[in-house]
Amino acid sequence: MPVKKYKDVVCRKWLPRGTKNLVEKDGRKFYFCSPACKEKFEKDSEKYTKLVG
Ligand SMILES: [Zn+2]
Repeated sequence: MPVKKYKDVVCRKWLPRGTKNLVEKDGRKFYFCSPACKEKFEKDSEKYTKLVG
């Protein structure tokens, strides 16, 4: 299996594993490059969860 990468759905950067900026929503995990992106996601999470499908 390929190594799973995480995408920051707010700024659309690929992230290395092990980022600590993590939000769990609807049983899925979303990772962010920074606390700022995490905050944006939390404020507008419906918009961003649609982007990742
Ligand atoms: Zn980001």
